[in-house]
Amino acid sequence: MTGTVAVVGSSVAGVRTAQALRTEEHGGPVVLIGAEAGLPYDKPPLSKQFLAGTWGADRITLLTEAAARAAGIELRLGVPAQHLDVAGREVLLADGHRVSYDHVVIATGSAARPSPWPVASGVHVLRTLDDSRALRADLERPGPVVVVGGGFIGAEVAATARASGHAVTVVDPLPAPIGRLLGPEIGELMGQVHQRHGVDTRLGVGVQDITGEAGNLMVTLTDGRQVEAATVVVGIGAIPTTGWLAESGLLVDNGVVCDEYCRAVERDDVWAVGDVARWDHPRLGEAVRVEHWTNAVEQAACVAFNLTHSGQLRGYAPTEYVWSDQYDWKIQIVGQPRAAVKHRFIGEPGAEPPRFAVVYSDGDSRLAGALAVNWPKALVACRRLLAVGASSDEAAKLVETLLVPTVA
Ligand SMILES: Cc1cc2nc3c(=O)[nH]c(=O)nc-3n(C[C@H](O)[C@H](O)[C@H](O)COP(=O)(O)OP(=O)(O)OC[C@H]3O[C@@H](n4cnc5c(N)ncnc54)[C@H](O)[C@@H]3O)c2cc1C
Repeated sequence: MTGTVAVVGSSVAGVRTAQALRTEEHGGPVVLIGAEAGLPYDKPPLSKQFLAGTWGADRITLLTEAAARAAGIELRLGVPAQHLDVAGREVLLADGHRVSYDHVVIATGSAARPSPWPVASGVHVLRTLDDSRALRADLERPGPVVVVGGGFIGAEVAATARASGHAVTVVDPLPAPIGRLLGPEIGELMGQVHQRHGVDTRLGVGVQDITGEAGNLMVTLTDGRQVEAATVVVGIGAIPTTGWLAESGLLVDNGVVCDEYCRAVERDDVWAVGDVARWDHPRLGEAVRVEHWTNAVEQAACVAFNLTHSGQLRGYAPTEYVWSDQYDWKIQIVGQPRAAVKHRFIGEPGAEPPRFAVVYSDGDSRLAGALAVNWPKALVACRRLLAVGASSDEAAKLVETLLVPTVA
């Protein structure tokens, strides 16, 4: 394939697709289109090191102009794509320009679900570098912080705000927010990490209303209680960015619907990668959309391969992996704990530092997934066993052997 590949979306999935096309020796033009004007950047540090002020923006840059030039990647940054003309094979940009393509890769990711509480200032969502900058500026002011939503991003923001000395309250309508992913018992344990670090948790209760302005906000809960805040962060999930595809004729349903090769259904020249792609997972036998960094990277590599090897397409069948850093917990999750029927706990969450793993089993006693806290060795072992379809017993036994300290 020597034609032009247009990649729409210039974050990790788009940048990695463009770079992987060159690794796969694609000889034709590669055009990377991005709505944001600045250089492409990475998102995980936005709730961690960048928000804490320990990393600057230069540390999270994904692609410099020089690196793009060296790789022969044409950057079209600062103008969003407005429409995809699949019949004419053109991307229409908001400034009226058109980019013709032979293949297009959709990498427009997702956007933060907006806060439903219209307050003039002091209430933040967190998705972009500008969001993180604005939140960081507000966190420089003393005063209590309320985090609405106890998922990964909410939990990370709570940890970062707490580490910089704020009183923090986390509110979530679920009694164990991360329990959606890890099961209620482990979810509850994960919730306790907030309490151990002095965070007030209001779980099993929602937010009714937020009023006031930056520095002087009032959060009213659905049980009638009120919590004062200087700053509020609303972390209630993300929505795939597909609005610009509304008139394209592509099938869009919770993301761009793709076949197992990450090719938009009924098109052989439109592909999707990262948070925006909902593809037919060959091993799971269902359409899935994944909002994790490693997925974006691996899917980009797969699509670049498929674009350059049309005779030998590879189905995309990743082993899901996500990490999250909260307080002194480095959390790593592999596989599909949510699909498990039972689990086994190994290690000691109360130890200093805490170190434990949870091995999840599916209905056939196969290893379904694993969670490791401050224990990368256990995670790596389970990841390897998942790839070969091992039993959960085998995984648990192996992880138990890792508990025994090795003699130096
Ligand atoms: C604060 C934060 C912390 C995170 N931490 C972790 C973590 O610890 N571990 C983990 O596994 N994952 C983490 N994630 C998730 C991970 O960052 C995402 O899965 C990843 O960024 C997805 O990459 P993407 O390129 O598919 O989409 P996005 O990162 O959403 O990027 C999409 C890009 O497309 C651009 N775009 C959108 N519409 C258009 C348009 N019409 N035209 C042109 N460009 C457009 C956007 O401006 C953006 O640059 C985190 C996410 C956030 C927000």
